Amino acid sequence: YIGHEALPRKNSHGIELTDPIAVEPMQQAVAATTGASWAGGPIVNGVASKGEQTVVNPASGEPVGHTADTDAAQIDQAFTAAADSQRAWNRLGGNARADILDKVADLYEQHLNELVAIICREAGRTLNDGISEVREAVDFCRYYANGARKHFSEPTLLPGPTGESNELSLCGRGVFVCISPWNFPLAIFTGQVVAALAAGNGVLAKPAEQTPCIAHRAVQLMHEAGVPEKILHLITGTGAAVGKPLLDDPRVAGVAFTGSTETAKHINMQLAAKDGPIVPLIAETGGQNVMIVDSTALPEQVVDDVIQSAFLSAGQRCSALRILCVQDVIADNLLSMLKGACDELTLGDPSKLDTDIGPVIDEKALGLLETHRARMQQEAKPLFAFDEAKRPQRGTFFGPQVVEIENFDLLKREVFGPFLHVVRFKAEELEDVIRRINATGYGLTFGLHSRIEGRAGAIFKRVDAGNCYVNRDMVGAVVGVNPFGGMGLSGTGPKAGGPHYLFRFANEKTKTVNT
Ligand code: NAD
Repeated sequence: YIGHEALPRKNSHGIELTDPIAVEPMQQAVAATTGASWAGGPIVNGVASKGEQTVVNPASGEPVGHTADTDAAQIDQAFTAAADSQRAWNRLGGNARADILDKVADLYEQHLNELVAIICREAGRTLNDGISEVREAVDFCRYYANGARKHFSEPTLLPGPTGESNELSLCGRGVFVCISPWNFPLAIFTGQVVAALAAGNGVLAKPAEQTPCIAHRAVQLMHEAGVPEKILHLITGTGAAVGKPLLDDPRVAGVAFTGSTETAKHINMQLAAKDGPIVPLIAETGGQNVMIVDSTALPEQVVDDVIQSAFLSAGQRCSALRILCVQDVIADNLLSMLKGACDELTLGDPSKLDTDIGPVIDEKALGLLETHRARMQQEAKPLFAFDEAKRPQRGTFFGPQVVEIENFDLLKREVFGPFLHVVRFKAEELEDVIRRINATGYGLTFGLHSRIEGRAGAIFKRVDAGNCYVNRDMVGAVVGVNPFGGMGLSGTGPKAGGPHYLFRFANEKTKTVNT
């Protein structure tokens, strides 16, 4: 049970992947998707539009669904409906909204196999990743439901001088625009939307153009659970097609964005320049994540944690390890073990249980990784390159790569894929390594492997990173347990799945009565 919440809550339970009774229905659900054509178009006022654009499976290039760019008239209708009905949704109160969000969680659990199948086919995520993602989405629903009960049902009574009473209430801001990425196409989409709903807002939700079908299904389930159709709308399309009408509208009361640092900055400027109220932006963005391994670390554990952090999910996690800093005295041994482990990794169909790494999301992502590899062939020392003969012929696959670089200066931007950069350091250079980590300007995740007493505490105080992990991997933050989010180029906070998140979606009002 999580102590700081209003009511006892358990995180969603997992699936035993060695148990055929649990796994076979999921595999059947994925297999049944062959030739499927899922709906992935907009949903405005509960009406789903057909789409002409094809959504493809990155593992095969085959079509899996259809989508469309939402037009400006539909976006206007969505704003009108959400703005008109937001006050009633807010007045409903935190307890009633929470009951609906708990129902969303129940429906997600009941549709686990179907949701995993869509995530696997549309986003190329492995079954394991798909299950984790549905669990995270379920946790977001129940966690923010609890937050609504705790903070949005009754006002907080405040002290007042004799003859006066004071109270503080939280309420929705109005209409929130929620913009999400493709790499956690259900969990992040759901987390943003249910937080905004829990706080009493109307929502226009825009998923990434690569993954509209899982978002479409999620919105259907939210409506089925009781979220009013006029309160929640799905706006599909590329940023170029729908970004302007979505963000320039004077009815936007707040924006929750997760994606690249560049897009967040662009949106920030757009919001600052538009007419209407001052609009808060919650931005959760990229990382240049570093792990330090000193001479006291346990090499077998480090190798396991590096593989998890750098390569699984095809390195397409914002939290993924990008730069491994290894103390020189253990580097040769550790890197030779790491190469052996990399050799064991399998690349292929994400619906197969023995696949470690699925495809990257699309041709553009593949092109960026291939360009980076070509650059590193000139500027870095190769340590491990995946055997190209083992790469699947179809689909956008990129095998894991490890290179050694002299220092961080070669990496100005996030490389979003299974690409690990190694830097060696001497014991006396540890301070300089920390200075360089902070100088990247990013501040998302950080890892340390060390058995030196007091070192973790000392480094934690000096390193600028939102999530610091010691003697473990650096990925897989759990809602309510590891609140997630960074600083600097990595985002504005507050942390998703943490106790302060909902407040940023709310207005605060005080009532002072002279009795
Ligand atoms: P992206 O910035 O390209 O796109 C994110 C979303 O923004 C998509 O829905 C996209 O359509 C939309 N968008 C793009 N331009 C827009 C515009 N002008 N106006 C409005 N919307 C616009 O990012 P991506 O490639 O989808 O996702 C990968 C990035 O997300 C990586 O940088 C990763 O680190 C980051 N990420 C961060 C977190 C976190 O919690 N910090 C979590 C997941 C992903």
